[in-house]
Amino acid sequence: MYFIDVILPIPLKQHFTYSVNKDEAYFLKPGMRVSVPFGKSKVYTALVYGVHQNEPPTYETKSIDQILDETPLVTPTQLKHWEWIAKYYMCTLGEVIRAALPSAFLLESETIITRTAKEPLDDSELTDDEFMVHEALTHQSSLHINDIRSLLDRKNVVKVIQTLLEKGLISVQEEVFEQYKPRLKRYLRLSSPFSEEDSLRELLDSMSRAPKQRQVLMTLFMLSATEEHVESTQLQKKSDSNAPVLRTLIDKGILEEYYLQKDRVEYKGEAPSEVKKLSPAQEKALEQIEASFQEKEITLLHGVTSSGKTEVYVQLIDSLLSTGKQILYMLPEIALTAQLITRLQHYFGEKVSVYHSKYSLNERVEVWKNVLAQRSKAQIVIGARSSLFLPFQNLGMVIIDEEHEPSFKQYSPAPRYHARDTAMVLAQMHGAKVLLGSATPSLESYYNAQEDKFGLVLLKERYGNVLMPDIELVDIRDKLKRKRMKGHFSDRLLEAMEEALEEKEQIILFQNRRGFSPVVECTTCGVAPQCPNCDVSLTYHQHRNELRCHYCGYQMAMLVSCMACGSDTLDPKGFGTEQIEEELRALFPNQRIARMDQDTTKGKHAYEKLIERMENGEIDILVGTQMLAKGLDFRNVSLVGVMNADNLLNFPDFRAHERSYQLLQQVSGRAGRTEKRGKVIIQSYNPLHQILQQVSVNDYEGMYKEQSEERYQYKYPPHYRTIRITFKHRNFGTMQKASVWFGEVLRLQLKEQVLGPESPAISRIRNEFISNILVKIPKQQSLQKTKTFIQKVQQRFNAQKEFSRVKVIMDVDNY
Ligand code: ADP
Ligand code: ZN
Ligand code: ZN
Repeated sequence: MYFIDVILPIPLKQHFTYSVNKDEAYFLKPGMRVSVPFGKSKVYTALVYGVHQNEPPTYETKSIDQILDETPLVTPTQLKHWEWIAKYYMCTLGEVIRAALPSAFLLESETIITRTAKEPLDDSELTDDEFMVHEALTHQSSLHINDIRSLLDRKNVVKVIQTLLEKGLISVQEEVFEQYKPRLKRYLRLSSPFSEEDSLRELLDSMSRAPKQRQVLMTLFMLSATEEHVESTQLQKKSDSNAPVLRTLIDKGILEEYYLQKDRVEYKGEAPSEVKKLSPAQEKALEQIEASFQEKEITLLHGVTSSGKTEVYVQLIDSLLSTGKQILYMLPEIALTAQLITRLQHYFGEKVSVYHSKYSLNERVEVWKNVLAQRSKAQIVIGARSSLFLPFQNLGMVIIDEEHEPSFKQYSPAPRYHARDTAMVLAQMHGAKVLLGSATPSLESYYNAQEDKFGLVLLKERYGNVLMPDIELVDIRDKLKRKRMKGHFSDRLLEAMEEALEEKEQIILFQNRRGFSPVVECTTCGVAPQCPNCDVSLTYHQHRNELRCHYCGYQMAMLVSCMACGSDTLDPKGFGTEQIEEELRALFPNQRIARMDQDTTKGKHAYEKLIERMENGEIDILVGTQMLAKGLDFRNVSLVGVMNADNLLNFPDFRAHERSYQLLQQVSGRAGRTEKRGKVIIQSYNPLHQILQQVSVNDYEGMYKEQSEERYQYKYPPHYRTIRITFKHRNFGTMQKASVWFGEVLRLQLKEQVLGPESPAISRIRNEFISNILVKIPKQQSLQKTKTFIQKVQQRFNAQKEFSRVKVIMDVDNY
């Protein structure tokens, strides 16, 4: 009797055992996939964990349906790493696997299968089964695994689906909400029958009576002399032609259209260019990093904005390439970094792969396989947090850029991992070096550098003698008193804006809130319209004249009168990006104004388009939320205005001050990236606030000392570790009782290390009441033992019937 233990991508703790025959037992290895039956009629793709001969004593094993891989898809190091994640972040291995593998690798009964636009070359390309499934999808828009089972009249069908997937003829539904569509450009070329000189001449001769078409062809020859790919829009423009003429040529089979992605996973651009020569300061930083790598596993590069950290990374990558080692370059959010991808592809050409959950499944599968096979086209992987799940074989270095960014922490669902910390563990398993980079390091990383756990390298000057921006604080309270405000603009900000516009320079205005105004309040009775599902006020969006909830998406038309007292005295208080934009249009009617926030970047390429317009100088003033802070490199921005720093500072979170410093410093960093010194104006009711003072003189160390001291006093990271336990239930009483019970039992052992339960600032979301317990663990106390204790409490909690439907969420090192 032979058995395998497998992991299923579900949130259940243990392994599951299935029986296999002798041949299968000898063939199967950990990291291969099998499809297995589960429950009454479910099918899952499971990952083999171990092969053995010990029959489970308590239940009868089922046999597997099918083996899906010839060789392991997942390496032993990955399995070890994922087990670390599950243990550290208090979730199941199944949850890690669901996050780690692209869903095309995890076909299951719930998977929805649809047909793609691609057609098979001819019928012989398909087996009979494949043909049947493919054919069925012409009559029906989608199928489930069980449909395919009845169609083929047998149980084992996952492999058929998989081969169709590999052939690109079908696709599976993505779990991502907004699918990322890489930008496609249309190109034209001469159809192959005409590429011979003779046939070409013949063709041109035959066109003497179609001069317009002829002109297009002549232009195409001219352009293809210098360019490998000719874009259709360019061809149309240069040949002074129009779309119908091009269409005729395509329909006649003379021209052929094809599409390429602009930021394609596989680079098809010009030959790589030489890496840039470093400045003396950068050179020195590079040497220090290399020296630090000799002694320490992890090094932090603290380099001010625009100091050229990227160029330093590029050199490090360059010097590692010849060793054949793999390099992982992690970024907080890839959608925001098209600029960087282009830059790296410029240097390293087709060695660069991009991995991101918003890329199509096929592209992710491709990168996965390339990394697993150590192909050179995936030697350098740029990715967001999920890229650390790739099957690296020989990882040499991990670069984590903007390491302070909170979006490195996965908030939901489990595993709630921090990609920076998890990548460090991965690097350690490979014996790879880690470089963290930031202009405003997280307190955690800077603390580790101070404690000598990490190496620390400073790069304090901007590249090319560019000065740090001049930061000026403006007191709004005073300006209001002296009637020097126009709407939300102080006279000082307006003055600086006039100056910049005069010089034909661009302006960025930062406002933390999107929408028109955070709350609409009745000036008669003081009531603000609330979301029916969450405990928050609705936000007014003037553009569509509606009220919206930013937590659950609820929306309703703007009220004409107050729902509480009936008077028509609803007043939009406070302000968001939309209101700033409107005020701007009144103040600067002749300038080109644009807005960048979640609402204006929803469309397919809306974000990229905004950046492109900004780069091309088609925008004079750009208003936006923190999206603006993220590493954008605009050449012609000389002024950055922060409309109101106070709502950042007053946010109820122990990291609020650190975050404010980082955000303000990063936004300021967008100003003056060329010779002329940039200007930043920060408006606040409280300009004496120590964080604003520190921002204004670029005093990171001062900020670190003061914040670190405070965190020590109040027992927060980096001096203590935290675990947040969240309780959610639709019934307030049940939620309350459950969280109080949990807190009391925890306190029996952990005493004053347990805080709460407490309601968060927004205590109800999507009709569920929420409360939090925070456990603060001193550094000298065993983290593992504390977690084991918490898990024991949770088991006792789960055993109680009245709490059985209360959701309990563990968040280790919560953000
Ligand atoms: P950071 O990431 O530190 O904010 P970047 O790497 O984006 O800074 O560099 C800022 C600008 O300076 C970029 O436009 C970059 O191309 C340019 N730059 C930096 N270092 C060099 C160098 N050694 N040679 C030429 N240009 C450089
Ligand atoms: Zn809501
Ligand atoms: Zn009212």
